[in-house]
Amino acid sequence: KQTPASRYFTDSQSLPSLRNRAVFANKGNFGHALLIAGSYGKVGAAVLASRACLRSGVGLLTVHVPECGYSVLQTAVPEAMCLADEHPKMITGVPDLSSYTAIGVGPGLGKAQETVRMLDELLLKLGGKPAVFDADALNILADNPEWLTRLPKNSILTPHPKEFTRLLGRTWADDYEKLDLLRAFCKRYSVVTVLKGQHTIVATPEGELHFNSTGNPGMATGGTGDVLTGILTALLAQGPPPADAAILGVYRHGEAGDRAAARKGEPALIAGDLPEFLHW
Ligand code: AMP
Ligand code: MG
Repeated sequence: KQTPASRYFTDSQSLPSLRNRAVFANKGNFGHALLIAGSYGKVGAAVLASRACLRSGVGLLTVHVPECGYSVLQTAVPEAMCLADEHPKMITGVPDLSSYTAIGVGPGLGKAQETVRMLDELLLKLGGKPAVFDADALNILADNPEWLTRLPKNSILTPHPKEFTRLLGRTWADDYEKLDLLRAFCKRYSVVTVLKGQHTIVATPEGELHFNSTGNPGMATGGTGDVLTGILTALLAQGPPPADAAILGVYRHGEAGDRAAARKGEPALIAGDLPEFLHW
């Protein structure tokens, strides 16, 4: 049996690209993303993901936040539309999904019982819609592993190593075993997994592994993962194959981090810098 391809992606030439914006384009041509993020004390995660999403070419963005996040979102991100959950502190309901072309869920959600029920309902309602699962959405999946089979095919999951061990229900002895487990996971659930860290790996359901070359330890700071979720949701909303969206988004996210670090120095880098340094 042949081992599927694995490669290190470095320059812009080997990268998928965003569609050119036609001269007569309008905002309806670039998708409508929905982000489901935030809880009391973690509304910043929704703000960071939203800013990154808007800086990644999406036509329209709606953000679903707990009621306490409503004025925060409207003030911090005026370009986004905002849906307030009926609960003051957490997300408990799923809006009508019919108008959205991609959904990103997870940053800052928390794991309250009502939010767990929300994710169950979301999995029911998603149909085959392209979706990104991150952070507490992954932790809730790890607590309910039987739900992994309900993920839409070609969903993108963006765990950091700790979240990935929770999803697997085990850890690995060395990097070889880690890569084997990653390939098997993507194949079993037909998902694209972005295993984050230095040299983030984009793994496809076909067993390909793509190792990213951008990024730096300045990005080891709270909120940088939320920024990635916003980027990937924006790209998915514009319609490319999910693996292409993941490869391109991970590369640009790291590149923004490298530009921010060059300008400010690694220790000064904060997540909110990254959307400002995105360039497409
Ligand atoms: P999260 O842990 O969800 O906040 O995600 C952290 C983000 O920062 C991921 O996209 C990581 O790939 C990136 N990151 C964290 N540490 C490093 C590092 N040492 N080198 C490169 N990228 C990193
Ligand atoms: Mg995270």
